Amino acid sequence: MKTMKLQLSALVLAACIALPISASSQSKVELDNYLREKIAFEKLTRVDSLMKSGKMVDARQVLLEVTKLDPNSYSNESHALLAETCYFLGNFQEAVKEYDIAIKYGGKDWRLFWNAALCNMHLNNYKNALVKANQALKSNIPEDAKPQIQRFVKEMSEKAAENPGNFAPANIHRSDYFDLLLAGRELNVWDNEKLPLKVYVKEGTDLAGRPLNLYRKEYPALIYSCLDIWSKASGGKLSFLPVNDANSADMLIAFSQTPQDVTQVKGEIPVEQGITRFHLSKDDSPAPSPFRRILKAQVELLLVKPTSLKALTVDEMKQISLHELGHALGIRGHSDSASDIMYFNQSFRQLPALTKRDKATIARLYSDYPGLEASGVLGFNLAPLGQNQEDRDSAKYKPDIGRQSGF
Ligand SMILES: [Zn+2]
Repeated sequence: MKTMKLQLSALVLAACIALPISASSQSKVELDNYLREKIAFEKLTRVDSLMKSGKMVDARQVLLEVTKLDPNSYSNESHALLAETCYFLGNFQEAVKEYDIAIKYGGKDWRLFWNAALCNMHLNNYKNALVKANQALKSNIPEDAKPQIQRFVKEMSEKAAENPGNFAPANIHRSDYFDLLLAGRELNVWDNEKLPLKVYVKEGTDLAGRPLNLYRKEYPALIYSCLDIWSKASGGKLSFLPVNDANSADMLIAFSQTPQDVTQVKGEIPVEQGITRFHLSKDDSPAPSPFRRILKAQVELLLVKPTSLKALTVDEMKQISLHELGHALGIRGHSDSASDIMYFNQSFRQLPALTKRDKATIARLYSDYPGLEASGVLGFNLAPLGQNQEDRDSAKYKPDIGRQSGF
């Protein structure tokens, strides 16, 4: 499952209210203050347009200049925006620091606390994440934002309890997260005899037969392209065969527009973007194994963001599909690094592609399996998706300010 998203702090620039004054009648200090405010305001206007066009590195540079003019009446905004650019650039440490400074300068917006909570989560500082999330709940927060933060508090409490030392695990520097999953018994495998896995993609209606008006006809091709990516990552060990009969399929892929369909705990406020359900073998025969064997898997993907009900873009759909299919192929648990597709939460550092660590993890899981001459998706003509299928290792991360909230 994937949950929760950064809330952008709105860039609200009040018009500079100080009026030009005559130097002769005012002290030099007041003139200095006026000039500082004026320069800060002008620079922030530039920052606004830079951020809107996704130029976070440039925006951060200008913001660093603005913060040299502290204190002024924009100090709170400029540090909040600096934090935001750091967040987008994946520098959560600096972002946390800047959110704190923004709060110190009188920032009261709930999003400052919420974003700081998310940064702490990315840094695996679950206790600090909890503190900030609770502060967000105590601030003047809109009703519709509460459920996901309450859910976050619950999830972070569980994680803080699992990591009582509140340490930032060093695992993120490892070349994969296989050992982490193994330690938590969070790995399953498909038997070699099951390969190629028979895949059925349910088109047009959800599992209950309800029509899906947001379903796109290119989704089966998208699913198969994701499976192909995982196949390549496995070193060609995993292979797939599209089938037309749901009953004979090993893996069933379905879609939904109803957030409640994909919630892990019934009755909870839905924040998940997809769910993978398994039928697992009860024993580990023929040989003792640390992995449970998968008999069947069912993946359900939400076509909308669970809180706003806004339709996903194709890129978002691909990101979610890669994540859920990773679960379905055996990575039952999650990575501890925000860049990996198998991170438990959607993050700005993820692209709709696998990281080296994602690839290395699936490759280790199936390392004993014989490679097939023809791997990937068999018997299916991949329709072009009209988007870049390149691997993320060669892609440069481009933060996109338009992607916000809700999934
Ligand atoms: Zn997940």
